[in-house]
Amino acid sequence: MGTRWASDLANHHGWAAQLLADGTIVDACASDGSQGGSRVAAPPIGWVAVCECGWQGPRWFRVTDVENEEVHDRHLYRSNMTLGPHESLLRADWEAHMRPRLAALSVNLAYLAWGAAPASQRMDAWLDLCLAVDTAIAAGTTWAAIGLATGVSERDARAQWEIPPDSLQRLPFK
Ligand SMILES: [Zn+2]
Repeated sequence: MGTRWASDLANHHGWAAQLLADGTIVDACASDGSQGGSRVAAPPIGWVAVCECGWQGPRWFRVTDVENEEVHDRHLYRSNMTLGPHESLLRADWEAHMRPRLAALSVNLAYLAWGAAPASQRMDAWLDLCLAVDTAIAAGTTWAAIGLATGVSERDARAQWEIPPDSLQRLPFK
């Protein structure tokens, strides 16, 4: 087992790592419940979604009594250290981490498509780019990332798009 969650972005593969009592996160693709042999000094107490980029999600704790399971409090009942179907909960943490980044990638692709569009399709491509930006901002993408994806500064990105969608100022900046 030990599922890796793949993404379209380099350096952003995620997985469920084990959390030790002292706060240490056991790397390794150990969601199969193996405790990584002698490297583990203390027994795991739960799990954390982690990403290759260094991001870590919130802590999830294992409870050994089914009566104590409180999923909304991130207390999961498992009879052992395997996550089983609960892995989807940690994956959702990681997907929330990925959402703004994937949205920034969509903005970048829309920006490139707009740049390459023939004159007859340029306005459509521009509107696609505007939509991609609106979607990305709604997904939590930062203005700095929007700027990076469209070859301008954060300030210029804000000046371009941080205004009502029907504003004339949204006309192409080039
Ligand atoms: Zn990441």
